[in-house]
Amino acid sequence: MRSLAPPGCSELDLGGAYLMPGLFNMHTHFSLSLPGPGGDGVRGLGPHELALYMASGARRTLLGGVTSVRCVAEKDHADFALRSAIDAGLVAGPRIFTAGRALVCTGGHGHDSTDTLECDGAAGFARGVRSQLKAGADLIKVMISGGIAGQYEQISTPQLTRDELAAVLEIAHAWGRKVTAHAGPAPAIAQAVELGLDCVEHGYQLTPEVAALMAARGTHLVPTLVVTRCGEFFDSLGVPAWMQQRSLDAGPDHARSYQLALAAGVPIMLGSDMPPFWPFEGTTATIRELEHLAGFGLAPLAALRAATATPAGWLGQQGRLGVIQAGATADLIAMDADPTAEVSALRGLRWVMKGGTVVRDDRHDDRHYDRHDTGQDTGAPS
Ligand SMILES: [Zn+2]
Repeated sequence: MRSLAPPGCSELDLGGAYLMPGLFNMHTHFSLSLPGPGGDGVRGLGPHELALYMASGARRTLLGGVTSVRCVAEKDHADFALRSAIDAGLVAGPRIFTAGRALVCTGGHGHDSTDTLECDGAAGFARGVRSQLKAGADLIKVMISGGIAGQYEQISTPQLTRDELAAVLEIAHAWGRKVTAHAGPAPAIAQAVELGLDCVEHGYQLTPEVAALMAARGTHLVPTLVVTRCGEFFDSLGVPAWMQQRSLDAGPDHARSYQLALAAGVPIMLGSDMPPFWPFEGTTATIRELEHLAGFGLAPLAALRAATATPAGWLGQQGRLGVIQAGATADLIAMDADPTAEVSALRGLRWVMKGGTVVRDDRHDDRHYDRHDTGQDTGAPS
């Protein structure tokens, strides 16, 4: 075949594979610690052990085809060290866009871990935003309602006052950073969207009115559908029954809510909440979430955009990441089946390139990445 490559470019033969941009996972926590013995193991790590543990997750994530992640609450600012180490080529991992610690009211969602920062009052939240920007945050994450993993709250519990939320948005936007919110109930989401919120995480209980408002304002949704249908994952971490029950119970409303958002035209982005590389139902949590996005109503090509071009745009990387075009960064993945026909084609992912460097090629490397490198291979805390 005649070469179309400009002089000086190298050519790679992928053996007839389908090529697409590397995946984005827009809701990750490399330092996730849920209630239960699995999470206790992570909470017990010292700062140096935690950084290495997170680096291991980052490497598995990249090998699983995820070339960019958005971290939305990480412990002890280890995410900033990890981001620097990856950017410097010291460790393998995806491009990291991170919120640092998530801002939460005293006693609010996730308050009992060092991946959040308790703030109160408008001045307190303004200081919270500034403290994350000072550390190097690319975006701000705030918990505006209860959730699944909080024992003394309900998903529907509103947790920020209007003044507190307005302060977060004003400071973040003045510094050119977007804000995403962990949010369940429709009234809390409506208020936040009116105030200028850029993205909603989970959105367990949307209504047609709130979905229409989000669409009109361009507020994105990261539904994290897998998080209310992952009993096997919770079991493996010893997550207590009350939390599993709350998760399972939220599942049907969660899916309905996602479908309302689709019907209203809300921009959707892939995010797993589960560790992005986690082996789950025969694939990774990231690809399982992609299958849920498609299974509950997005056409395959639209689901692929939710995992590539749309997140790149939200992160201010349009034309640079999440696309295949001249001048864009070569973050690419390849598989043998056509992902635009069926997103499950990504289960057969066999080649990953980040920034023009091949980091996985199953044909030329007899290691089995799915089993050893993207898998849970030791008794490491999880
Ligand atoms: Zn989360």
